[in-house]
Amino acid sequence: MISARLLQIAMMIEKGKVVFDVGSDHALLPSFLVKNGICDRVYAGEIAQGPLNKAIENIKKWGLEDHVIPVFSDGLSKAEEDVDIVVIAGMGFHTIKHILDSCEVERYMYFLIQSNTDVDLLRKYISDHMYTIEDEKVVYDGFYYQVIRFSADLHEPYNETEIEFGPINLKRRDEVFLAYLEDRLKKLKEINELAKKDEYSEKIKQIEEILYN
Ligand code: SAM
Repeated sequence: MISARLLQIAMMIEKGKVVFDVGSDHALLPSFLVKNGICDRVYAGEIAQGPLNKAIENIKKWGLEDHVIPVFSDGLSKAEEDVDIVVIAGMGFHTIKHILDSCEVERYMYFLIQSNTDVDLLRKYISDHMYTIEDEKVVYDGFYYQVIRFSADLHEPYNETEIEFGPINLKRRDEVFLAYLEDRLKKLKEINELAKKDEYSEKIKQIEEILYN
């Protein structure tokens, strides 16, 4: 079974599309997508030989050689023409930025990104390029993770609140998103109290407004 985080990503993939999983490590997500009939063909891309070997081993063990294709590739540099959807998960924003900067974003239907750091900078990147955030989900898997689906379709830049919290999150107010905000609020209040400062008072006010107004 895959983690709740990877499962959330899998649930955001349209059935029957060709997926390229950048930084696939053990090929867990590609294998899950094929085993569960979501995709017939998935590329498991890796920049490092060790994780790529592990992916190849798993693909063979699970008999998925005709459906999961391991690719030694920095980001999407070796991606074939038939790729529809790109997944980039479990990395920091700066690695993700390098991968996005080095590819033709317009070539793909959409990207599913789960950044381990600086999700606000990721949204700012999307906004600065006038791309469209099509969907967002917050998932709890020991930590709160955010998964963002965006495409190269033209969109006017997002405002500061949308960049920080997510335009779809703010509209949809999913239970997990609200729980994430409650958790953030609690932590900010604790820091303020410990430091005997009100450094985060503005942020606290902003989160309380989203939660309770
Ligand atoms: N995507 C999986 C997940 O979310 O569980 C694995 C995450 S693992 C922490 C990050 C993987 O990305 C590593 O195996 C690393 O080698 C790979 N990676 C880092 N930079 C990459 C790049 N530019 N292109 C392809 N793979 C990359």
